[in-house]
Amino acid sequence: MLIECQDLWKIYRLGDVEVQALRGLTLSIEQGEFVAIMGASGSGKSTLMNIIGCLDQPTRGRYSLNGVDVAGLRSDQLAEIRNRQIGFVFQSFNLIPRTSALENAQLPLFYRGVSLREQRAMATSALSRVGLQGREGHYPTQLSGGQQQRVAIARALVAGPSLLLADEPTGNLDTESSREIMAILDALNKEQGMTIILVTHETDIAAYAGREVVIKDGRVQSDRQTRPVARLSPSGA
Ligand code: ADP
Ligand code: MG
Repeated sequence: MLIECQDLWKIYRLGDVEVQALRGLTLSIEQGEFVAIMGASGSGKSTLMNIIGCLDQPTRGRYSLNGVDVAGLRSDQLAEIRNRQIGFVFQSFNLIPRTSALENAQLPLFYRGVSLREQRAMATSALSRVGLQGREGHYPTQLSGGQQQRVAIARALVAGPSLLLADEPTGNLDTESSREIMAILDALNKEQGMTIILVTHETDIAAYAGREVVIKDGRVQSDRQTRPVARLSPSGA
């Protein structure tokens, strides 16, 4: 099992107020799955994604990734896992302004001890995988929202992760751009066997996934398979 969340709790304390963002959430995800996480605003979706992505730790409960118990790891070990295994895509793109598409896509390679020439070649190839060949020199402000999100996907892919986490990646995009983004994610899952976890509010976006998990009040409310799991070995590993 790639991801095993067992009775996860996440409690935020704001002064006297306690917010229970996760309340005993249990969920397992296999390598190669494409899972849509749905649920009302405030139900705990982003909190769960941050824990799965090793950006945050649960207050209680067990999370293991690839058989490794994440709770026992130091922050530098968590950073190493994020850098090697996980790609992130967010609703707000999070590109660095006044920095070219190529340099944005190169960023995860910065700490890798890869030569600058190799970084450029890898980032160029990642950009062409998302249909942005010829736009390497463009700045974020010179790109449409859909194109900016594609740069963010290239950045997420450049280091060859086996797990892609996308938190409402189409939340700021029009229908046509959303469709393009989902076609890219769909191809990554089907052709490369990449595991994808996608948070979305929209049922037509969730329909790209093979499994739909609904979160309510910090727990799994429903979990159903909508398509069989792709059985491909990941090529990026
Ligand atoms: P979703 O992504 O489903 O909208 P979140 O995981 O962002 O939900 O939030 C779940 C609950 O936890 C909400 O009540 C939210 O206000 C609260 N929350 C999230 N992050 C924090 C934080 N850093 N500090 C305090 N409360 C938080
Ligand atoms: Mg959220």
